[in-house]
Amino acid sequence: MKKSLRNQLSLSILGIVLMTIAIISVLSNYFINKEFMHYVSRQQELKTQVITTSISNQYTVFTSHWNLDYIHAIGMSSLYEGYIIKVYDNENNVLWDAQSHDMRLCNQIMSQISSRMAISYPQLNGEFKATDYPLTLDGEVIGTVSISYFGPFFLNDNDFRFLHSLNIILIAIGLVSLLVSAIVGYILAKRISRPILMTVGVTKQIAAGNYEVRLKENSNTKELSMLVESINHLASSLEILEKLRKQLTEDVAHELRTPITILQSYLEAMSDGVWEPTNERLESCYEEVVRIGRLVGDLEKLAKIESDSLKLEKTRTDLMELVEKTADSLRVEAAGRKLEIRVEGPHVEILADRDRIRQVLVNLISNAIKYSKEAGTISLTVFETEDTVGFHVQDKGIGIPREELPYIFERFYRADKSRNRSTGGSGIGLTIAKSIVEAHDGKIMVESCSGEGSKFTVILPKE
Ligand code: ADP
Repeated sequence: MKKSLRNQLSLSILGIVLMTIAIISVLSNYFINKEFMHYVSRQQELKTQVITTSISNQYTVFTSHWNLDYIHAIGMSSLYEGYIIKVYDNENNVLWDAQSHDMRLCNQIMSQISSRMAISYPQLNGEFKATDYPLTLDGEVIGTVSISYFGPFFLNDNDFRFLHSLNIILIAIGLVSLLVSAIVGYILAKRISRPILMTVGVTKQIAAGNYEVRLKENSNTKELSMLVESINHLASSLEILEKLRKQLTEDVAHELRTPITILQSYLEAMSDGVWEPTNERLESCYEEVVRIGRLVGDLEKLAKIESDSLKLEKTRTDLMELVEKTADSLRVEAAGRKLEIRVEGPHVEILADRDRIRQVLVNLISNAIKYSKEAGTISLTVFETEDTVGFHVQDKGIGIPREELPYIFERFYRADKSRNRSTGGSGIGLTIAKSIVEAHDGKIMVESCSGEGSKFTVILPKE
């Protein structure tokens, strides 16, 4: 059973916070306790000093008299705080003794402290110990006080209350942070998982063939927004591909229909005996078959170029030399229509697939020959700029109507259908040229005016 991203994220955040709280609690408990014990021990030492000094101050040197009432008051208040005292004078006579004054109260206080400390600090193994401190006045020893308290340290009511509130505050902070982290974790996990879930929904729809869907919501998170963008991009690419695929099927069907209809009607008429199978009629049928063959051949070429567009075999080539050689190979065909091919421009090097660029030249020059009037000139000009090289193929032929210009690079597009049927074009030559040029990261453009001729320009990057 796979866990959802949202649950995993929420649980992880909660887990991290729980661990942090546990570590902070253990550490703070340990250090606070340690510091507090030191503090309490110091306070106890101070207390013994206060007791000693206040008892010493109850002695009057002139009269050698002890103020026993005050000593009693000091003794009782110390007893309630957990200090059991016994005061002697210089001759070791007992002046005041807490135990002989109120044995029951002493025992009660001692057992209360012992049991409370045994419960709170079982490892401490503490006990009541008596220590003697000399009573001095103006540098002279005037007696002794024996102070007994629970050591190494003990906590009184106030101390216990303080520690208790501290613990409650720590627990409250822990619970509040846990609650806050659970809420924040939940919201965060939801914000992260929401666009992913939506993306999954959209990709499912794309997989089912619905290419028009797009993700509208975008995330603030860079990676998630990139994911959304690439899914949208994928959907639009698939949409375009699907349109092209349908278009291609329609176009191929359309292109095949005319020759097949002609063939069918001719052959039917001949086999039904309506028409004599004369040489002329058979010749017409043959021409239609050749037309179909050429169309299929062109389609194959286009498919190959489009699928191989990434496998260009680039070599350093002298563009001028390539243009001259290609022009030479087409000069006979041009001469048949009394056309002259002129080549000019500098010798420039390009890094390109030689055969493919030659194919572009052949297609453009053949078109220039096909669509030129009898007698005239076709100019091929090589040029170079700072980071590009290219060539123009210019003719003084029939030209292309302005409104047709945007479409001539599309598959099967023929500016004038009836006119082109006679020239034998299938409308794929320019599409092939454009695919090759674009595979080289170049551009192909056309300027033309009906009746005045056309100028095709190919620009390729130097590297
Ligand atoms: P085709 O095989 O029909 O020549 P192309 O793709 O090479 O197919 O050209 C598409 C159409 O563009 C042609 O049918 C023609 O109408 C027009 N065209 C191309 N080159 C020229 C040109 N040099 N002069 C006039 N029209 C042209």
